[in-house]
Amino acid sequence: MTAIELKNVSKTFGSYTACRDVSLAIPEGEFVTLLGASGCGKTTTLNMVAGLEDVSSGDILMGGRRVNDLSPVQRDVAMVFQNYALYPHMSVARNIGFTLKMRGMDASEVRRRVEKVAASLELSSMLDRLPSQLSGGQQQRVAIGRALVREPKIFLFDEPFSNLDASLRMRMRAEVKELHQRLGVTSIFVTHDQEEAMSISDRIAVMNQGRIEQLGTPEEIYSRPATRYVATFIGSPRIELAPGIIEQSHGTAVCKVGSTAIPLPAQTKPVEAGRQVEVGARPEYVKLSDGKGVPARVRLVQPVGPTTHVTLDWEGGTLVSSVPGFVRLAPGTATYAEIDPSHLLVFDRASGERLS
Ligand code: ATP
Repeated sequence: MTAIELKNVSKTFGSYTACRDVSLAIPEGEFVTLLGASGCGKTTTLNMVAGLEDVSSGDILMGGRRVNDLSPVQRDVAMVFQNYALYPHMSVARNIGFTLKMRGMDASEVRRRVEKVAASLELSSMLDRLPSQLSGGQQQRVAIGRALVREPKIFLFDEPFSNLDASLRMRMRAEVKELHQRLGVTSIFVTHDQEEAMSISDRIAVMNQGRIEQLGTPEEIYSRPATRYVATFIGSPRIELAPGIIEQSHGTAVCKVGSTAIPLPAQTKPVEAGRQVEVGARPEYVKLSDGKGVPARVRLVQPVGPTTHVTLDWEGGTLVSSVPGFVRLAPGTATYAEIDPSHLLVFDRASGERLS
């Protein structure tokens, strides 16, 4: 069953359109992330689902029912924000149980639910502390606990980890993912961090200038990006693209970048000679070689542990190769770069759409 559906939802602030025609159907239990650069409309979209922002046009449905006119409370969603917004003078237990108490729930039942949630978030030993006596990650867990205790049908997360340091972010990602696997609450998560989106989501909606540019699983978004924008937004290190032109060579279409003719992947859509394109491959499909592929020169060597990112100059511009382990290469070294043709990504230069 579809838990949340956005049908052609738009939002304007005066003459500015923050969200355009956003359509998205989220089945019950799915974890969907809205991903995109700052200002692309992620938070506005989330706020419209929460009921914190009116919809300018279009419909929002929950469990098949139109909720455009329902208040946030009536929608039965729980939201976790970037700033945890805990009550500073209340203990962890009171912070978590506050909304239940406000609803008039019996004190012993509040206590039971708070203890259950605290146990699942490993907060049991901290129930009597004040927020100021907790680390950032612990405070964020309390904020999640406060949302969880309401047993909502829908969870909305707005960049919940952006105030945390890198290692804590990684831990919190794992915790939220495990929590979702355990409880299966339908969730929408907002982030501008593509790695975070990839690691946590069932599906990702990549947003650009108020629109959903592509909706797909992490694998689809990464391996089969619909557009140049998605290809370059996702992936670290970033894919580098070179300008090329389609030519016929011995009856088959190739992509010519400078003097280099690159065979097109078998699955490329029929494309006429003369079409201006941009081509590239993810760094793991660019290999350094002794003589095969295109001549290149090492510009930068960046070891990151499991791999080393080697940035190369070639006649098409820049290429990045991910080499397993550590490599010793001096900047300026002449080498060759071999691109796996089956993983070549080809985009129409004018429209940005993928052709391969
Ligand atoms: P970020 O990652 O920086 O939070 P975002 O993708 O969540 O960005 P939104 O907060 O949804 O972006 O904002 C989308 C656009 O709408 C931005 O250009 C923003 O300036 C504009 N905007 C948001 N709220 C309002 C408002 N109340 N009035 C006018 N413009 C607004």
